[in-house]
Amino acid sequence: MPQSASTPVDESAVPRRPAKPRKVPRVLILGGGTVGLYSARRLRKRLGRREAAIVVVDPRPYMTYAPFLPEAAAGSIDPRNVVAPHRRALKGVDVLQGKVTQIHHAERTVEITPEEGAPYWVTYDHLIVGLGSVARTLPIPGLAEQAIGFKNVEEAIAVRNHILNRIEVAASTWDPELRRRMLTFVFVGGGFAGVEALGELEDIARYTVNHYNQIEQDELRFVLVEGSPRILPEVSEELGGYTLEQLRKRKIEIHLSTFLNSCVDGHIVLSNNLEFDADTVVWTAGVKANPVLQQSDLPLDKMGRVTCNTSLQVVDAEGDVVADAYAAGDCAAVPDLYNPGGFCPPNAQHALRQGNHLGDNLARVLRSAEVTPYSHKNIGAVASLGMYKGVAQMFGRIKVRGFLAWVLHRTYHVFAMPTVNRKLRIMAGWTGSLLLRREVVPLGALHDPRAEFRAASVPPKPRVVEADEAKDAAVKEPAAKGASSSTKAKSAS
Ligand SMILES: Cc1cc2nc3c(=O)[nH]c(=O)nc-3n(C[C@H](O)[C@H](O)[C@H](O)COP(=O)(O)OP(=O)(O)OC[C@H]3O[C@@H](n4cnc5c(N)ncnc54)[C@H](O)[C@@H]3O)c2cc1C
Repeated sequence: MPQSASTPVDESAVPRRPAKPRKVPRVLILGGGTVGLYSARRLRKRLGRREAAIVVVDPRPYMTYAPFLPEAAAGSIDPRNVVAPHRRALKGVDVLQGKVTQIHHAERTVEITPEEGAPYWVTYDHLIVGLGSVARTLPIPGLAEQAIGFKNVEEAIAVRNHILNRIEVAASTWDPELRRRMLTFVFVGGGFAGVEALGELEDIARYTVNHYNQIEQDELRFVLVEGSPRILPEVSEELGGYTLEQLRKRKIEIHLSTFLNSCVDGHIVLSNNLEFDADTVVWTAGVKANPVLQQSDLPLDKMGRVTCNTSLQVVDAEGDVVADAYAAGDCAAVPDLYNPGGFCPPNAQHALRQGNHLGDNLARVLRSAEVTPYSHKNIGAVASLGMYKGVAQMFGRIKVRGFLAWVLHRTYHVFAMPTVNRKLRIMAGWTGSLLLRREVVPLGALHDPRAEFRAASVPPKPRVVEADEAKDAAVKEPAAKGASSSTKAKSAS
């Protein structure tokens, strides 16, 4: 597979596309997330191995179903079950583990940087870009050092373990200021991801505190900071208002039209002049297209997304199709046929369907048939706000709240979760949690598993008794030496 290795990379080292067309065209899929996984599976279903070779590149060996991250953080779903492993889910597809670092579509080559070893180039005939998005951050003092995102399973589990660990440590800390700081949790961003993460984590924190005699529920302080005047812009104002009311009833402090100004060393300063200390800052204030696209010759819009037409083909500023290039999902600007002039929002609902549609379209192209436009009417939004709590808006008009919305959320997402294996495991996990209650053990040591071994490898200090004996001996010895020298001095005189 590797075509050539080059470090550092210079233009002259970019391999040219093969002079002769390959016998079996190679489809290279960048990103093995929602778009990558679904488009690869659909293509493999439509085309035999003699019709197309399919290669997926991703630094992670799995696709993450992000809508379940808040539930994974709350411990309602085993983290391993919110991901679909590529090697199992992508039968008949080659998987390369590594980061795409440059795209030279004019040459039909992509540079891949593996976890170890030198970068190398891969050539292709058709390209699918499904590189997703990254957290949209701002240059806020202390943010990079203090905050954590909530975009992948590693972050979700780290946030869970951190919050449970703060509760555990606070239970044995008597300094009131330190306790307050440990038990204050700040979430920045009141969109879907932020509100769901906050709702689930506040719920599990309160449930956990029930097991501690040393901590009162009133000591837990959850704060949501949102720059706009409302939360959950994805649902109607009425349902957003209902969610706000529910969260406030749970004593979650919500600051609307407010920005985080600074969080240096955990000292939080908000734009409404409120200041306090917190050990936990979770950043969920939106996403932006994967910045690696800036290292490509693909046409991008002002927001850094690959520009596409409705058939998911990449198009330039004039709207002309860029041959052999397709894109979808969070990293693509795909016109929304149900919202003329607008683009499909960055969500799993679109990414999943666009992935399938793209697979179908490319299969048509490879069989010399016409591509078809992608259109999907948003069926609604469902959000979980903790155990048995949720909000949902279906088909624009139907608004559901509380337990029924929570059931809808679980039902919708378990069906959308890829692979039957994962669906069954998730449902089995939910049944287990209902019967045996949720697990609240903090496994903070997971994030530094070598700490204990490192400490054990340090040569032991001498025991106190041995150290005292050694001190006595050291004192006696110079005294004896002093005695002999004074004797010598005496005899000399
Ligand atoms: C916490 C959370 C909750 C959400 N809840 C919902 C919800 O309830 N409903 C909903 O519809 N949507 C939800 N979303 C949004 C949804 O998950 C995304 O819109 C969707 O996953 C986008 O799919 P994608 O394929 O474009 O990107 P992704 O699924 O993110 O896939 C991108 C892939 O690219 C890979 N990648 C990144 N950089 C590179 C590189 N340099 N080289 C190679 N590969 C790379 C990544 O590892 C990843 O596998 C949520 C998102 C989050 C974070």
